[in-house]
Amino acid sequence: MLTDSTPECVTCRAPIASPYCPQCGERRASDRHLSLFEFAEDALEAFTHFDGRLLRTLKSLALRPGELAVAWVRGSRVPYVSPLQLFLIANLVFFLCAGAIGNHVFDTPLRSQLGSGHARAFKREMLARKLHVATTDSLEFRRRATAFVPTYDTQSFTLSKSLVFVLIPPMALVVGLLEWRRRRFAAQHVVFAFNAFSAFLLLMVAIGAPMTGFLHWRATHGYSVPGNTDNFYSYPLVGAWAIWMALGFRRAYGDHLVMAAAKALVVAFSFLVALSYYRVLLFIATSYST
Ligand SMILES: [Zn+2]
Repeated sequence: MLTDSTPECVTCRAPIASPYCPQCGERRASDRHLSLFEFAEDALEAFTHFDGRLLRTLKSLALRPGELAVAWVRGSRVPYVSPLQLFLIANLVFFLCAGAIGNHVFDTPLRSQLGSGHARAFKREMLARKLHVATTDSLEFRRRATAFVPTYDTQSFTLSKSLVFVLIPPMALVVGLLEWRRRRFAAQHVVFAFNAFSAFLLLMVAIGAPMTGFLHWRATHGYSVPGNTDNFYSYPLVGAWAIWMALGFRRAYGDHLVMAAAKALVVAFSFLVALSYYRVLLFIATSYST
């Protein structure tokens, strides 16, 4: 009920008859107490409110793959943190743990850049030029490359935290092509890709941490341990991620499970391909900035 005595919003001057302004969301001034308690409550709320949304978002991501994309398209944004925020948090969690769980999927040290993978010869020649060595098969090249490792790896790790973003557009494109016939908004594919990537980062921590703990336990009890721990859990990781995506495709796009599983495998495979190009890009960026 709006009457003459209806108070107006202290922020936007619109008349308000409810606890919060319908125009701008400001709280009704008469409900404020201006007490120290309210000040403390206010300060806390910023965190607890966010925590509640974050927990709800993580729960949805973990237990109901694809639900966040559906909610986003439906327009229900208030209960969850945004896809970008979720990705930034997953990214932060992953990179904080990456060192401890020995995961170098994204930061790719110099040794693995030169040892195998896409465009190996190109990378070796580029490094030779940078280190002022004539040929890549000389002893001098090996010596200078080894000396360059700490500088390179530190910079590569720093750059990779933001460079992983370049993996999202191709993933969204693949999802969009796979779901072309459903005529959805492009934004849905982008949200789905952000969520899928966030799930991948968090799965790496969730699977990598106990695996690394187990390997550590084996090592301290005198059992043998594989040299590269990345590979040790890459199969369960990709498997778990593919299951997440299959369930996600089913929920977000209404695919049948078999079709959803096939699409999940296509996305996982194209992700691995994109990853090899990402590594070349990371190598170039790191070389130019060291
Ligand atoms: Zn207002």
